[in-house]
Amino acid sequence: MAQQFLEQARVADFVAHLQKRHTVYAPHRRGSRSYAFEATSDPAGVVLEYPRTLGSVKKFFLPARETLLEFDLKADSATIPPVAPVDAVFLGVHSYDLAAVRRLDHNFLHGNPERNYVTRRQGARFIGVSYAPDKYHFAGSVGIDPYDMTGSDVFLTRHPDGWIVDVLTPEGEALVDGFALPLHTMPKPKREHFTQHIYVPQDRLNSIMANSHDHPVWEESSRNCLGCGTCNLVCPTCYCFDVQDHVAVTVDGGNRERTWDGCMLRGFSEVAGGEVFRHKLAARQRHRVNRKFKYLSDATGQPWCVGCGRCTAACTAGISIVEIVNRLIRDAEREEQVTGQA
Ligand code: SF4
Ligand code: SF4
Repeated sequence: MAQQFLEQARVADFVAHLQKRHTVYAPHRRGSRSYAFEATSDPAGVVLEYPRTLGSVKKFFLPARETLLEFDLKADSATIPPVAPVDAVFLGVHSYDLAAVRRLDHNFLHGNPERNYVTRRQGARFIGVSYAPDKYHFAGSVGIDPYDMTGSDVFLTRHPDGWIVDVLTPEGEALVDGFALPLHTMPKPKREHFTQHIYVPQDRLNSIMANSHDHPVWEESSRNCLGCGTCNLVCPTCYCFDVQDHVAVTVDGGNRERTWDGCMLRGFSEVAGGEVFRHKLAARQRHRVNRKFKYLSDATGQPWCVGCGRCTAACTAGISIVEIVNRLIRDAEREEQVTGQA
């Protein structure tokens, strides 16, 4: 399909056009360095050039806290709160976050589909946007280019004067319908490249991870770790949760809540009787990295890390998932050389 062009000066008008028919969630600046996906009220507040948002669009499909059930003990009854489709436009989503949505879809739609996630996902339309990789991004190492349009209904590629518009689906056509955009006939601008890399493909990483159970990197990387769980909570592909029942002090009712949980948190592996089977931070770190590059990959053939760099950028202890993985790769290759020479 022919490309069109959106001048930078018309971006706010385009957002206002989308708002006529839909709720628009888009990145907004928060504080001096952070960005967050939020419902747009003022089109001028939308930021399309940003390194990454603190959290991803995951929160709209899997809220950090939600009530699954409300119960009334006196009436001996329970009600399930209604859940509505998100039915909105997500504007300015990077390709790795769209890849993360596809992974969440796999987790929640396959096997026994999860009702609340499935319901909320309905009606979501995505307008992807290209980005310039910074020192934390490494999506290229997991096969996700900054210009990858997969999953977008419309894709905006940065150009010095604005945005090259690719309309990719009938839903995308409906989104731009009624907003006049001139055709774009010039070549696309030079591609930007990643400065951060994981050096081996997933099929090789699988075996490296399988042989890394006793590697010293787990102890070393956990020395400064606070066990805060931030790396889990900002990750767009982490989907673990906890479910708890809360009974009112009057003991006549209560609710069942689901909240995000994470494998770096002590309570995550606590079982009945108070036993914690991943007490040591080193064991939790090993589990987290294996979840991203081995356990789910064994079943799906894909890494469950999309290379957004959020976990490293947000870690107050400066612990880098790329450095951990590259250390495993380096040591595995060194060992192979030694074994080969022997
Ligand atoms: S964010 Fe950093 S300090 Fe916190 S649990 Fe994760 S690795 Fe440890
Ligand atoms: S593990 Fe880190 S880099 Fe990978 S998707 Fe999660 S937050 Fe992003």
